[in-house]
Amino acid sequence: MKIQEADAKSLLLAGGLPVPSWKVARTPAEVEAAARTFFAAGAERVVIKAQVLVGGRGKAGGVKLAGSAEETREVGTRILGMDIKGITVRKVLVGAAAEIVKEYYLGAIIDRASRRIVLMASAEGGVEIEEVARRNPGAIHRVSADPELGLLAFQARALGLAIGLRDPLLSPFVAIAEGLYEVMKANDADLVEVNPLAIVAETTPDGTPTRRLVCLDAKVTLDDSGLSRHPALEALRDLDEEDPTDAQARRLGINFIHLDGTIGCMVNGAGLAMTTMDLVKHYGGEPANFLDVGGGARRETVRGAMELILGDTKVNAILVNIFGGITRGDEVAAGLIEARAQQLREVPMVVRIVGTNATEAARLLMEARFETATSLDEAAEKAVALSKGASL
Ligand code: GDP
Ligand code: MN
Repeated sequence: MKIQEADAKSLLLAGGLPVPSWKVARTPAEVEAAARTFFAAGAERVVIKAQVLVGGRGKAGGVKLAGSAEETREVGTRILGMDIKGITVRKVLVGAAAEIVKEYYLGAIIDRASRRIVLMASAEGGVEIEEVARRNPGAIHRVSADPELGLLAFQARALGLAIGLRDPLLSPFVAIAEGLYEVMKANDADLVEVNPLAIVAETTPDGTPTRRLVCLDAKVTLDDSGLSRHPALEALRDLDEEDPTDAQARRLGINFIHLDGTIGCMVNGAGLAMTTMDLVKHYGGEPANFLDVGGGARRETVRGAMELILGDTKVNAILVNIFGGITRGDEVAAGLIEARAQQLREVPMVVRIVGTNATEAARLLMEARFETATSLDEAAEKAVALSKGASL
């Protein structure tokens, strides 16, 4: 689950990282009001940043500075409602603009190969890290944390030294790297990224110029499977940006991944769903989705799954493949019959149900005149033929 920069920054703050304060605004008037508070506190300029769950907002014109309250209102008007990579901007972050001296990259990811949390840093910050990886991979430095010992101070120091930091900024960098690692673990995140981590020029209240490392941007991706352990994080899900299909699948407890093909698949079990997709491909078709209704699916789930499949206008054939264990075949058959009675468009379908209560299922399907198959090969072959316009 991706969360917005403002929420990611809250997690960083909770982990003790240096993040400049901010407000979230949803209208130009709110942008102006927020900006006024920062100007009143002594800011010379404010920064206004689109809150959308995509990277490269700066390049897309979604990050702007403004020098007066009137100007912030104009900028707010321009950014709110803007389209960034297909997403409409509904809210912005407003904060005092930092005076950036240098931008770095710092991120933590899970490296599946080594099964460890890896911290990455680069002196080439501000730009997208994928671009640095392509153009100059040597500019990205890594250390991997031991699962038992965690990220050790000497590792964080080595990372800071590698990107050219020296005291007095090296010690704060070590604290930031350690904090980032803790934020990653505390929230079961897949990714915590600060880009840019910036050296900023500031003036202390007594007028002395200083330099400080601050997190100017934040990106956090949470592990969906870890969310049940952090009920409070569920509130950070941005429903504005969630695909309605994904939201419905989540409500129904169905694993659903939309793909580009024409054959809708309804299967129970992730492994069987993969196998089914392989066989669809083997017989020359293209699956429209991965869909696992899960174990013990009831007829309501089956109906909901059918709605998800039919919601994709590219679907011109449906393959149902159920291996009844805990799931009862007759329950699925009843769900399919109910779904067909309600559905708004007619799409040819092949059903294969084996296992628990398969006989009852077969009788129900026969009475309702469903096209059935006994083997998975037969089912896949028939579905591909139907998708290509054949009538069986
Ligand atoms: P992204 O493009 O989506 O990654 O958004 P960022 O928050 O990283 O902003 C993009 C760029 O805008 C940064 O790399 C900075 O160069 C610039 N920027 C962001 N915040 C500030 C700020 O407070 N002051 C200044 N001067 N520039 C900023
Ligand atoms: Mn950034």
